[in-house]
Amino acid sequence: MLETAQFLKSQMDYIFFVYGLAFMVLGVVCFTRQRSPQEVLPWLFMGLFGFTHGLNEWLDLLALTAGDTPLFSSVRLAVMAASFAFLVEFGRVATIKLGMRTVGRWILPVLLLVALLLGSLLGGQSGLNGGFRYALGLVGCLWAAFALFAKASTLEGLRRRWLISAGIGMGLYGIAAGAVVPAAASFPANFLNQETFFAAVGAPIQLFRAFFACWIMLAVWAYEQSRFEESHLMMKRRWYFRATVAVLVMTIGLGWTLTNNLGKLYQEDLRRDIDAGTSLLAHRLSVDTTVTQGLATAMSTSNALAGMPGTAPDTLAQANLLVDRYSAVHPGLIAYVMDRNGTVIAASNRHQPTSLAGRNYSFRPYFQEALAGRLGKFFAIGVTTGEAGFYASAPIRNGRQEITGVAVVKHTLDPEALGLTHFQDAFLVDANGVVLLSGMKGAPYGLWPLPPDLLRQTQASQQFAGKEVTSLAQQRFGNGEWISIAGKKFLAGRQMVGQEGWSIVLLRQEKASLVNRLFGIILTLMISVLILVSLLVLQREFGTEILLHQNQKRLEALSHELERQATTDTLTGALNRLKFNAILGQEIKRSQRYHTPLSLIMYDIDHFKRVNDTYGHQVGDSVLVQLTSLVAPRIRETDSLARWGGEEFMVVVPHLNSSEAAKLAEKLRERVETTAFTGVGRLSCSFGVAQFAPDDTADTLTGRADQALYLAKAGGRNRVVTA
Ligand code: GH3
Ligand code: MG
Ligand code: MG
Repeated sequence: MLETAQFLKSQMDYIFFVYGLAFMVLGVVCFTRQRSPQEVLPWLFMGLFGFTHGLNEWLDLLALTAGDTPLFSSVRLAVMAASFAFLVEFGRVATIKLGMRTVGRWILPVLLLVALLLGSLLGGQSGLNGGFRYALGLVGCLWAAFALFAKASTLEGLRRRWLISAGIGMGLYGIAAGAVVPAAASFPANFLNQETFFAAVGAPIQLFRAFFACWIMLAVWAYEQSRFEESHLMMKRRWYFRATVAVLVMTIGLGWTLTNNLGKLYQEDLRRDIDAGTSLLAHRLSVDTTVTQGLATAMSTSNALAGMPGTAPDTLAQANLLVDRYSAVHPGLIAYVMDRNGTVIAASNRHQPTSLAGRNYSFRPYFQEALAGRLGKFFAIGVTTGEAGFYASAPIRNGRQEITGVAVVKHTLDPEALGLTHFQDAFLVDANGVVLLSGMKGAPYGLWPLPPDLLRQTQASQQFAGKEVTSLAQQRFGNGEWISIAGKKFLAGRQMVGQEGWSIVLLRQEKASLVNRLFGIILTLMISVLILVSLLVLQREFGTEILLHQNQKRLEALSHELERQATTDTLTGALNRLKFNAILGQEIKRSQRYHTPLSLIMYDIDHFKRVNDTYGHQVGDSVLVQLTSLVAPRIRETDSLARWGGEEFMVVVPHLNSSEAAKLAEKLRERVETTAFTGVGRLSCSFGVAQFAPDDTADTLTGRADQALYLAKAGGRNRVVTA
C-alpha cells in the first residue's frame, strides 16, 4: 500500500500530463462540434474551461518539474480561477437557455470576492488556492453538472445517457477539485485536504481528478457523436474513432514507459555520479587519515620521548623539536605530546594564539583510547583552535612498556582541500549522522535526528564544539536511498571512512530526473496532439459528410413521397387516373413492340348509391378502401390497379388475353361477392374485360372495357362481360 502510494506520487508529473490532456481534448471537442439549432448548452464556455483548466494542469506539471516561484504560483492560481469562472458561466447561461430563473453575470465578481475572503480566512497561498476551489471550483462544477442533468432530462436514449454521464463526471470532479484543497490552517481545509486524502486513500487526489477529467471528456465526446443517425458512414466514423482512441491510449501508455525509462536512466546516471563522488572524497580522506595515523604511531616510538614523564628542560626541548619535525610534514598538521593526565606538554603550535601547550584534553576519546593502549582515531572540532580535524593518537611507552603519555597528530581538515566544496551537498558525518564538515555554507549539524543520550555524549566530548545539532532529514538513510528534505527529493550516496562509522555523504536533488521525464512527456504530448488533430479533422469531415448524407436521404424520401402523392389516389392508395393513363400508354407500346397480349379489366360497385344513402358517405369511402385492399393483393406485381372514377376501377393486365383476364375478373368478382364488408355486409361488383387489338388506342380500349361493364350492369350486375 505504502509502496503503491509512493509510486503514484513519483508519477505525479505524468498524472498532470494526462489530466491536462483530457481537458485540452474537452476544449477541442467543444470548439469543433457541429453546430446544431436544437443545442441550447453554451459549449463555448465548456470549451474555454477545458483549455484554461488543461493549461493550468500543464503549468502545474512545469512547476513540479522545473520548480516553482511565488510569481509563477500566482499566475497558475489566476489561470485556475479563470477556468472555474468559465464553468460558472457555462452553468449560468445554460440555466437561462433552459428557461430557468437564474442570476446575472454579477455573480462572477461576487464569487471572486467570496473566494478571496475564504482564501484570507484559510491563510497563505495554499489558503487562497483553497478559497478559489471552494467558491469558484465547487460552485462552477456543480452548477455545470446541474445544467447537464437539466438538459439531459429533455432528451432521450443515448444522448440523454451520455449527458447524464457527463453531469455525474462533472459533479465528481467538482468534489475532487473543489472540496479536496491544499492543506491550510483553518477548517475545513485543515480537515479535508490533499494530504489527509492521500493519507486516507493511499493515492494522490490528482489521480482521481485526472480520471474524472477523462470521464467528462469522453462523455461529452460521445454525446457529440450520438447526434448522428445510424448509417454506413457512421459506422465507418465510429470505427475510425475507436481505432484512433486505441492508438492514443497506446501512445499514452508507451509514453509513460518511455518517461519512466528516461527517469530511471537519469537516476542510474545520478547513482553512478554520486558513487564516483563519494569514492573520490572517501579516498582523499582516507589518505589523509592513514598518513596522520602513521605519523602519530611513529612519533610515539621516538627516542626523544624516552624520558617521559619529565619536565626537565632538555626533555621538553627534545619533545618540542620532535613535534615540530612531525608537524612540518604537512602544513595542516599539529603534533603534540600529552602526559598521563591529558595535559599537553609539547605542541607544534605553541607559538600561536591557539596554542595547545599546557591545556588539558583528557575528556577526548582519542586520549582515553591511547591511555588504554590502543591507537585512537577521532574526528572533531578543535576545542582550542575551533578547526575541524582528524586526530590520531598513540600511547608512549617507557622501557618497561608502561604508558607514560600520548602522542597526537591532528590533521586539520579543510573542506576546500578535501574537495567537499566541489560538490553541492557533501558532508563528512559521524556514525550518528552528525556533520563535521560540509561543502554547504552554513551547514546544519545533523543529517538525521540524534537520540538524546548520544546527543549528550557528543556534547560531553565537545566533538562538535558543543554546537546544537539540528537535523535535515526525518530519518536515517544509507547509500542509494531516496530521502526528502524540506519537501524536496534527494538521492543519497554514502561511503564509509575508517571503522568508526564515519562516512562521506553526498546528496543530489531529483529535479534533473523530473526534467528528463519531462522530455518523455513532451514527446508523448506532441504525438498525442498529432493523433488528436487528425482524429478531430477527420471526425469533423466525416460529420459533415454524414450530415450531407442524412440530408440527401431526407430529400430522397421527400421526393418519393411527393411522387407517391402525385400518382396515387389519396383515399384508396390505388393509382390515380393520371398514372393509369401513363401506364396504359407504356403497356400498349410494349404490347405492340413485343406482340404480347394486353387486357384491361374495369369494375364498378353495384348499387353503390344505396350504400351511401343508407350508411352515409363515410361508410361508402371505407368500402372503397376495403375493396381496394381486397383486390390489390390478388393481382400480379406487373398488373396495375387504378381508381378510374368515383367507384370505378381499372386493372391493367399485361401478358393476358381477354379470356385469361376474364378468369382473373371472375376470381375477383367471386371474392367480392363472398366478402362481408365492414359496416355494410355483402356487396357485388360488375366487371368489363377488353383485350388490346392492333388498331386500338388507349381511348378505344378503355371505351370497349367501359362498354363491356355497361353490358354486365345491364345483364343483371355481379357478372363479368368480355368485349
Ligand atoms: P350501379 O349498380 O348502376 O352502378 O348503381 P350505382 O348506385 O352504383 O350507380 P352509379 O355507379 O351511377 O353511382 C355512382 C355513385 O357512387 C354516385 C356517388 O354517390 C357514389 N360515389 C362516387 N364516388 C364516391 C366516393 O368517392 N365516395 C362515396 N362514398 N361515394 C361515391
Ligand atoms: Mg359508377
Ligand atoms: Mg355503381
